[in-house]
Amino acid sequence: MTTAEVSDEDFGEILAQTRHFVRTSVVPREQEILVDDRVPDDLRDQAKKMGLFGYAIPQQWGGLGLNLAQDVELAMELGYTSMAVRSMFGTNNGIAGQVLVGFGTDEQKSRWLEPIATGDVVAAFALTEPGAGSNPSGLRTKAVRDGDDWIINGQKRFITNAPTANLFIVFARTRPADDEGAGIAVFLVPADAPGVVVGSKDAKMGQEGAWTADVSFDDVRVPGAALIGGDEDIGYRAAMISLARGRVHIAAVAVGTAQRALDESVAYAATATQGGTPIGNFQLVQAMIADQQTGVLAGRALVRDTARLWVTGEDRRIAPSAAKLFCTEMVGKVADLAVQIHGGSGYMREVPVERIYRDVRLLRLYEGTSEIQRLIIGSNLVKAAQKARA
Ligand SMILES: Cc1cc2nc3c(=O)[nH]c(=O)nc-3n(C[C@H](O)[C@H](O)[C@H](O)COP(=O)(O)OP(=O)(O)OC[C@H]3O[C@@H](n4cnc5c(N)ncnc54)[C@H](O)[C@@H]3O)c2cc1C
Repeated sequence: MTTAEVSDEDFGEILAQTRHFVRTSVVPREQEILVDDRVPDDLRDQAKKMGLFGYAIPQQWGGLGLNLAQDVELAMELGYTSMAVRSMFGTNNGIAGQVLVGFGTDEQKSRWLEPIATGDVVAAFALTEPGAGSNPSGLRTKAVRDGDDWIINGQKRFITNAPTANLFIVFARTRPADDEGAGIAVFLVPADAPGVVVGSKDAKMGQEGAWTADVSFDDVRVPGAALIGGDEDIGYRAAMISLARGRVHIAAVAVGTAQRALDESVAYAATATQGGTPIGNFQLVQAMIADQQTGVLAGRALVRDTARLWVTGEDRRIAPSAAKLFCTEMVGKVADLAVQIHGGSGYMREVPVERIYRDVRLLRLYEGTSEIQRLIIGSNLVKAAQKARA
């Protein structure tokens, strides 16, 4: 069970500061981030100073030490604005950082977690490959022992923060899957290691300012100490647990963004007129707003309950997938309604809901597609019922 390192009072302060940062420093610069396709350095520095690169890293290793119940409250605030800002430190706190927190040796943690928590090191999670996305057990990147070292060869794609990363958390096969396990290990690979090649920045549908790229590993030599947990069989489990935790966080981000789309919609409906009547006075427009509000409230309740179940250890498998499935589908619908409420204006650049509509599409794809979430929920429920009958 994860206990809270941060008191309610201290957390209230962190949350208030984050909300202030989002609403007064980031919201006014969303357009700049979009047009420049980058988060300005002064916002990055502010986030660093606030400890946001390490809010979910334990205090022992230099982070703020928020547990997942606190993480989701922060994520709902961060989701309110340009997703690129959250993405800048999302991999440090989430999918990459949590692999080290959960599975690293003490030596590995003390070497890497503090610079990750301060933001001096950007860590990226390198699991996906061509042909191995939804099914990572099909990955083909290989790690072969050479004396005390490992030699890594392979190709990863769509890796968030790869262009700025200093450290890759790389999943690689050390042997074919067998009865002992999936044969997948995970390694700490510095971005400047000879043979690491980061491709050019991908051109994406949305989330401008959040960068992804291919990364290839060509005879990359790392020492034995780079094998996370010192165990060749940790990789698959580390990926699955880190992703499950990440799903609760992504669900919370979706709720935050849905709240923003709702707020934009209500503000627009209350003031924009047709024939002299505010469009918000039309009951069909009110119905769209009602559906948005209902989705936001349901999503928020589900996220909070799911985070609670994670913290108590009651459910770290089904609820995270259910929360991600519901909230990311919900925000897709809420964003679509937001564009509808804005009419033609909703299709125009510089209107926040146009950006939101594109940004949230990704949430149904990464960290497991909606189909994969359904498979996890359904298969685990059926397996549990079969086990109970056996
Ligand atoms: C912007 C962006 C950032 C990303 N960041 C990272 C990152 O930092 N690190 C990383 O490792 N990866 C990252 N990814 C990869 C992401 O997690 C994968 O793209 C995702 O898991 C889907 O895998 P895929 O693209 O190979 O699609 P596929 O797995 O080929 O899926 C294609 C379609 O087939 C469906 N499908 C696949 N298998 C099944 C099945 N068994 N049953 C039913 N339907 C199925 C899917 O649901 C989907 O609809 C990122 C992707 C994007 C786009």
